[in-house]
Formats: sequence, structure tokens, C-alpha cells
Amino acid sequence: MPLFRRRKKEKNRPADEIPPDLWEECPGCRQLLYARELEDELWVCSKCGHHFRLTVWQRLEMTADPGSFEESDNDLPLVDPLEFPEYLSKTQAAREKTGMREAVLTGSCRIRGIPVGLGIMDLAFIGGSMGWVVGEKVTRLMEQCARFRRPVVMFCASGGARMQESLVSLMQMAKTSGAAGKLAEARVPYLSVLTDPTYGGVMASFAFLGDVILAEPGAAMGFAGPRVVEVTKMKMPPGVQTAEFQHAHGMIDIVVPRTQMRETLALILRWCMTERGATH
Ligand SMILES: [Zn+2]
Repeated sequence: MPLFRRRKKEKNRPADEIPPDLWEECPGCRQLLYARELEDELWVCSKCGHHFRLTVWQRLEMTADPGSFEESDNDLPLVDPLEFPEYLSKTQAAREKTGMREAVLTGSCRIRGIPVGLGIMDLAFIGGSMGWVVGEKVTRLMEQCARFRRPVVMFCASGGARMQESLVSLMQMAKTSGAAGKLAEARVPYLSVLTDPTYGGVMASFAFLGDVILAEPGAAMGFAGPRVVEVTKMKMPPGVQTAEFQHAHGMIDIVVPRTQMRETLALILRWCMTERGATH
């Protein structure tokens, strides 16, 4: 599977106007950008700094040392406790679309030579929603890393809990939070990186439990997303649910441009291991 898959051309663009693989329109400034340059810039717009959303495979390639990633828990069975209409077919379609079995990839890798447990969520897989499999994979990753004293780096991207699994999905919030607690008890560093967007049950559980919480510029985040807020008719100041606002109000420790993310993670990990006595 190619690590860098091009996004599909937007529907409203005439078919014969621009070769689909050559150009991308920036959602931030609407400029057309040369795709190869965009790729070299880690999918950050050179005109306005907009951070494009990434596939898991893109994120993995720009984070882990080459060839160091080993996947874990890729064979957990899907649960469909409510026999929710079309859930199984929707999951199958998501698998074909993303090349993922579920909405999170977990495993181990090295970042600048430092061994870590790595999790990367996939927004394209049923909105990055957390059902039993996602919760279980995150929990197993954290518990194993607590046992072997290996730091955890988690890239979050999610619309929240997976409604098709109802209460089973909500229970994953408590389960993953408990697992994050085990990392803390073992004094093993946990770095959470919030990417665009991180909402709902994921935001309200393991995403916001990192020892250090990082975010990409412009990333949207919050408990209830904009559409839910609109229904409640509550008035919120503009920009509340952004990385920058949350950083200014103490919810996030640092907003890091993507081009500096890998180095920053390595720097923090080294610092944590020196300060807190975590071992490889
Ligand atoms: Zn732009």
C-alpha cells in the first residue's frame, strides 16, 4: 500500500481542468498548491500554514524512524452489540477505503532512536470514532507500555464515541482513562498529540490525559462539536474550540507545527526519561 495516497479531486472542479494528482486546493486559503511540494512540506500549506488532514500511513511515515514500526493487535474482532443497521457493511466499506482494520493503528517504533509505543487514529475510518476495538487497542498499548516502561505517543483524531456501539463505546472512555492512569502510576511518559479534529468521548478520555498535551496549529477540539453546539443554541466566542484558544487557556501545553513535531516529541521524550527515570 502506498504510504502517501493522493486525495481525490474535489467534486465541483471541472474534470478536464487540472490533473488530479498534480494540484491540491488548500482548504485554508483556497490557493492551488503543487502536490509534490505540499508533500515535501508534510502537507502544510506554504501560503497560509493550513495543516492538511493526514492518512495514518502519512503520519506514520513522518513520525517513526524508517522501518522501525511493528504493528500490534491488528486482529481484534468487531463487536456489534446492538446489531445496528448497516454497521457491519459500513465498517467493511471503511476498511476498503482506508486500508485500516479499525480507526486506530497501534504498535511500537522508534522516534529519533527512542523506543515508544505509538498510536495513530484515522479520521477517515467512521469519523475516527471509538468503539470497543479502538478502546481495547489503546488500552492494550498503554498497559503493555506501562509494563515494559516504554513511553507512549498517541496521535488523536476523532469525532468521538461510536454511536453504533452505544454504551459499549462509552465504556471505552473509562477503560482508556484507566489505562492512562496505569502509565502515570508506573511513571512512564505519555504524550498526547491532538490533531484536527479531536472531539467527544476521545477528547474527554485519553486524548486529554497526556503528561504533555501537544496540538497541531488550527486543530479543532472540544467535547460537543459545532453541529451539536448549534442545536443547543448556546453562544460561544469564536475560536473557542481551537488548539490556540485551548493553549492560551491552559488546556494544552504546546502547539507545534507539523514540521517540528518529530523533533519536539524526541526532545520531550528525552527530557522526560532523564527527569522521571523511565527506561528504554
Ligand atoms: Zn493555504
